[in-house]
Amino acid sequence: MAETPTITIPQALLPKDGRFGSGPAKIRDESLRALYESGHSLLGTSHRKPPVKSLVQRLRTGIASLLSLPDGYEVVLANGGTTIFWDTMIFGLIRQRSQHLSFGEFSGKFARHATNVPFLDQPEVITTVYGTHPHPVAREEIDTYALTHNETSTGVATQIKRPAHEDGRVADGLVVVDATSAAGGLFVDPAEFDCYYFAPQKCLAADGGLWIAAMSPAALERAGEIDASGRWIPEAIRLSTAIANSPLNQTYNTLAVATVFLAVQQVEWLNNNGGLHYGVSRTNASSEILYSWAEARDYTTPYVADPSMRSRVVGTIDLVDEVDAKTVVNVLIQNGIVDTNAYGKLDRNQLRIAMFPAIEPDDVAALTQCVDYVVERLA
Ligand SMILES: *Cc1c(COP(=O)(O)O)cnc(C)c1O
Repeated sequence: MAETPTITIPQALLPKDGRFGSGPAKIRDESLRALYESGHSLLGTSHRKPPVKSLVQRLRTGIASLLSLPDGYEVVLANGGTTIFWDTMIFGLIRQRSQHLSFGEFSGKFARHATNVPFLDQPEVITTVYGTHPHPVAREEIDTYALTHNETSTGVATQIKRPAHEDGRVADGLVVVDATSAAGGLFVDPAEFDCYYFAPQKCLAADGGLWIAAMSPAALERAGEIDASGRWIPEAIRLSTAIANSPLNQTYNTLAVATVFLAVQQVEWLNNNGGLHYGVSRTNASSEILYSWAEARDYTTPYVADPSMRSRVVGTIDLVDEVDAKTVVNVLIQNGIVDTNAYGKLDRNQLRIAMFPAIEPDDVAALTQCVDYVVERLA
């Protein structure tokens, strides 16, 4: 690979914050400062004592408010992040057969985890070429539809809607949605899901290691049914244990308190400014800037051809062959702008830019100017 030339971007063009990674993603300075200022009152104290429990409660009520959850829905959380929650659902939520929409690295991974499980039927996996997304197909024998709100590896977003049979009847199965890079930044109607789950290191601008799931009464009931069925379930990822602990604002094993603290800061910041509408207004503003720039330049094209599938939280921008994306990414790093590289396994000459609510739309605009500046000088 060619050596990266040294190019110094003028200070006036630089974004205020150079973090554009799609996860772990930018954490607002205000949140980090608040964590420091929480001093001796939280970190290093027991997760079974009132101060930490009240923090967990703020997270749960904050999420319920952010997503406008109807009565009867519960916000459940435990250690492990989204990847662990996939296994938690395989043991504790899928009854017999799931259907997966697979259109990128993350959606594909859950489908793979659910394949060859000894006590489940083989899942149905519906795929499309990367850069697009498939649609779920209602079937009598499917008890769980696994959707992904935003495929972080490709920058494709979907509309969350329950699948319907040809006669218009809504499918019976549970709709479970990986919202790891979507929750807080994309609009969703709780009537369309049974389990909307995510980890907080993306739109929630916190650290990883935790999973959070907004569960409908039907999903809570299913977890109870499977638990009572006698299926062997590893204790540490038993979903019904998390469901029992969450209303008590505690977790089965030791909680990552700093992660919860940072997530609370972000959720309350969103809610105090207007809730999900505020988050979506910011991701709309940022993505409008990014995609109109990419369409206007002759060396860039949005990777996702269909504008209705283009993500407002993670933008993927292809560069022409003459401009090497890795070189651009490395020059940006020299200038303090990090994590603009394409998802590794996608292997494209591409920039991938996170536009989560914490990221300032003005910084996205500045980033596009910086890329222009670099590309002009590479020519
Ligand atoms: C980041 C991401 C994951 C993985 O999350 P972990 O907390 O690291 O397990 C899964 N799904 C999507 C859509 C993601 O963006």
